[in-house]
Amino acid sequence: EFAKALEKGASGGGLDREDIITLLQALPGEEEEGLFGLADKVRQENFGEEVHLRGIIEFSNYCRNDCFYCGLRRSNREIRRYRIPLEEILAAAEYAAGLGYGTIVLQAGEDPHYSGAELAEMVRRVKEVGNFAVTVCVGERSLEDYQLIKEAGADRYLLKHETADSGLFSKLRPGTTLAERIKRLNWLRELGFQVGSGNMVGLPGQTVETLADDILLLKELDVEMAGIGPFIPHEQTPVGDSSPGDLGLTLRVLAVARLVLPKTHLPATTAAGTLHPKGRQMALGCGANVIMPNLSPASYRALYQIYPEKAGSKEDADESHGKITSLIKEIGRSVGSGRGDSPKDKFRE
Ligand code: SAM
Ligand code: SF4
Repeated sequence: EFAKALEKGASGGGLDREDIITLLQALPGEEEEGLFGLADKVRQENFGEEVHLRGIIEFSNYCRNDCFYCGLRRSNREIRRYRIPLEEILAAAEYAAGLGYGTIVLQAGEDPHYSGAELAEMVRRVKEVGNFAVTVCVGERSLEDYQLIKEAGADRYLLKHETADSGLFSKLRPGTTLAERIKRLNWLRELGFQVGSGNMVGLPGQTVETLADDILLLKELDVEMAGIGPFIPHEQTPVGDSSPGDLGLTLRVLAVARLVLPKTHLPATTAAGTLHPKGRQMALGCGANVIMPNLSPASYRALYQIYPEKAGSKEDADESHGKITSLIKEIGRSVGSGRGDSPKDKFRE
């Protein structure tokens, strides 16, 4: 049965939910090797050997939400909160320009301190620094805010759906719903953003069926990017005692996502690199084609503790950049040039 599903994946025949569930349960050894090898081939055919770098600046760790899995949740009183002044954000962008980055990601908690106009201004100023694509990742905002951000020149928006199980979603993200999240992903699509979504692997209460639904939802949304990484428990959260997501399962989800979404950018996540020292290299070997080096100034990094011991949280931007470019070369790949836009026709320049 596994061989049949893999065959179907190889011939580009649409994998259905049952096939996906079968592939996600690939056994270590021959089955996993077959799955990972095929995903690597599909990645190679669609993206070649280039690994695109997306420099991420985590500009605020304030958050109005109380997600059960995240260390930035508002009930966590034990972290010191910060907002990076615009001048320092621009300095980080300058630094990225010097290193030839094609994309800057502006990420933060859901911080109501920033108006839509202020976020738009941030985007505008960052775009003035270099010839970047700008990705914004600041959670759920109004349609008007998304519009302002788009008009300011933002190219992409990242809003992970987190889990396709609506019950689990509302349990883990009190006061919010999967339907509202999906509504926003559709707004972003209509506004002309390159849209990124994605999910965590190994959330407490998640099943292999849920993971199949995650992949099918990403397909339905036709996303340009999908961030798929392991859940890592944070002590100062209600799910701090849960086990972390399994690296093998994360890699299998990534590999199947590559088969189902051949032209979607898939990052080798920092969370995968946190779970295992070679986690990101492994992810690049089973479908991933993007890495998001951290460019936040060193003084803020340790405070952006979504989960503990985040890979790179003790480094500065120089070290993160150096480590990541050498890990890319180590596995025989090259650092991507240009903005690394979606290869889909509608986003071709
Ligand atoms: N606040 C925005 C939002 O939630 O969309 C953006 C920032 S949020 C910190 C970025 C991502 O971190 C989320 O999409 C979520 O998938 C991830 N994340 C949060 N807690 C995590 C954990 N404990 N383990 C792994 N990833 C986590
Ligand atoms: Fe806030 Fe995002 Fe963390 Fe949820 S995941 S608490 S919205 S920063």
